[in-house]
Amino acid sequence: MPELPDLLHVLTQLRERIRGRVVAQERVREPIILRCTVAGNLSLLLGRRLEEITRHAHSLVFRFDGLDLAVNPMLAGRFRFATPGERDEAALAFAIGFHAPTADGARPDPQAACDLELRYLDDKKMGKAYLTAPGDWHALPGTEAGGVDILSREFTPERLISLLKHRGDQVRAFLIDKRALDSLGNAYADEVLFEAGLNPKTPCRRLSRDDALRLHAAIDNVMRTAIDEVARRNQPIDVKVRDFLKVRLREICPRCGAKIRKAGVRGLDAYFCPHCQPATRPGFVDWTKTAR
Ligand SMILES: [Zn+2]
Repeated sequence: MPELPDLLHVLTQLRERIRGRVVAQERVREPIILRCTVAGNLSLLLGRRLEEITRHAHSLVFRFDGLDLAVNPMLAGRFRFATPGERDEAALAFAIGFHAPTADGARPDPQAACDLELRYLDDKKMGKAYLTAPGDWHALPGTEAGGVDILSREFTPERLISLLKHRGDQVRAFLIDKRALDSLGNAYADEVLFEAGLNPKTPCRRLSRDDALRLHAAIDNVMRTAIDEVARRNQPIDVKVRDFLKVRLREICPRCGAKIRKAGVRGLDAYFCPHCQPATRPGFVDWTKTAR
């Protein structure tokens, strides 16, 4: 799944480069990815202008005049800009080609060449794209996760505390639950817990008020810093910038020099520093007793 900072960077780039353009071509290479809730296929988009692109949970919705295309990239889906004629990638699922923008915003001549392609690539073929009537994607998986937007004003410390109160699971499982928070993935859940000094296996109900306040500040700080950093690097939209992360996929803690550990939390690997994020209940493996 793309993480929020990646998705917001993609969204900015898509808006800059293809918003307002008219579809000139389309190709579907992996029909398994594309689901149509209207009769037809991507050719229905030909001649339509792309009015806007918006994010809804971990999906992007492309609003063409009269039809919407909602894309949920799942685990491995990614977008890429290409020039028409460029060789197809092995992972190419579908492509939408756009006419060059006209100076006065008028509709381009249908015979005019397409000069830019938006490609959707998916190595795992797990992503899903839905072509729907306007607004008809609201009930589709991955578009209405229901969690509180962690970048919004609604995400206050008190809101987080009240969410945590009702949870019987471990804090890392809570952080990546899209029904609770919109949204953190594996990478930023690790970063947030490191920043807050919390062990990933801490049960939510064992968190003190201070812990929760620290967690809230960490979510806010880590995510805003990451969004700025990803935007500043301004890499192509198929590149995930992750080299500035502190614990995820790291070996040595940048704060104390201890060896970073990996632990399974609900079948997913969590990276953490055993010294900076000590376990809080008996029964945990005490990593602090192992060699640095
Ligand atoms: Zn450490």
